Amino acid sequence: MPASESTPLTDPRGRPLRDLRLSVTDRCNFRCRYCMPKEHFGPGFRFLPRADLLRFEEIARVARVFASLGVKKLRLTGGEPLLRSDLPDLVAQLATIDGVDLALTTNGSLLESRADELVRAGLRRVTVSLDSLDEAVFRQMTDAALAPAQVLAGIEAAARAGLRPVKVNCVVRRGVNDHGIVDLARHFKGTGHVLRFIELMDVGATNGWRMDQVVSGAEIVEKISRELPLEPAEPTYRGEVAKRWRYVDGGGEIGMITSVTSPFCGDCSRARLSAEGSVYTCLFATTGTDLRGPLRSGASDAELGELIRSLWSRRDDRYSELRSENTKTLRRIEMSYIGG
Ligand code: SAM
Ligand code: SF4
Ligand code: SF4
Repeated sequence: MPASESTPLTDPRGRPLRDLRLSVTDRCNFRCRYCMPKEHFGPGFRFLPRADLLRFEEIARVARVFASLGVKKLRLTGGEPLLRSDLPDLVAQLATIDGVDLALTTNGSLLESRADELVRAGLRRVTVSLDSLDEAVFRQMTDAALAPAQVLAGIEAAARAGLRPVKVNCVVRRGVNDHGIVDLARHFKGTGHVLRFIELMDVGATNGWRMDQVVSGAEIVEKISRELPLEPAEPTYRGEVAKRWRYVDGGGEIGMITSVTSPFCGDCSRARLSAEGSVYTCLFATTGTDLRGPLRSGASDAELGELIRSLWSRRDDRYSELRSENTKTLRRIEMSYIGG
């Protein structure tokens, strides 16, 4: 019997370990101001050297150990995961893990030409980030020399390849892209894709976050509902991160990720593996636990499992519930490193 069935692994707050986000690179071809502002992640920035990154075989091995402890969902992320041109090789290895759902989060810039290959390798779900349909606003948010049309083409290619429904993430920043919220909603209404709005978070230590830049989920719902009436929908499962809303006229649904105004730490079942093999039990963590060292010095699966088990059984994270003036100064790990 797998360990997950015999002894469910929960933290001291009773939260099971169910999700694992795998960051495959800390690099990105965008410089979103809320994630990798170019003043900090400029030409002189020292990204992880190649030799420090986990090899795909190592990532797959760690993922298998996590699955034996109860993980049911794997999500590839970064940085920009599609910058790893051989990503389908990793997808193929992860797709052989029984009973585990495999997803990818991407900025969509390289998705159009890669979607078919990823699906053939075994990818089942994709989330694409898109903050605006307006070219100038898109550039202002992402600092990328690219048009949103390229991301839209990636979304359509993913849907054609079978990754339906495509989830589309939009981070909202007051005064920058909030006036385009209804345009985005209108664009995706009736397409089957699920648009989700994310409250701007104080992740990392470089994005200069301020509470007055956050547009609350409630305000977003109100804004959209005034033009395209919405009603609340039941969560699909316990611990679902996005609160669901559906169009009254049957045009589909949207989601709100209210990590700032209504945190969901109580149900948080996510661990994160950085590209160099450290495990973090919270997006806002200040330290990780190294698995690469043990992996490369011959640790067995049982020993790796024990390390993870011991980490999760001590986990007390609930950053978003405690967010305050006192947490502002913490030296948090950047989201592009830890995996969003
Ligand atoms: N590069 C990929 C992408 O952008 O989809 C994957 C990594 S990115 C770190 C994962 C998600 O985190 C994206 O949807 C992005 O919009 C979101 N994100 C990054 N910084 C954020 C912030 N400060 N607040 C809220 N969401 C953020
Ligand atoms: Fe890159 Fe994604 Fe961060 Fe934007 S949010 S800088 S696309 S990793
Ligand atoms: Fe989970 Fe940490 Fe986010 Fe709370 S703040 S939901 S514990 S990742």
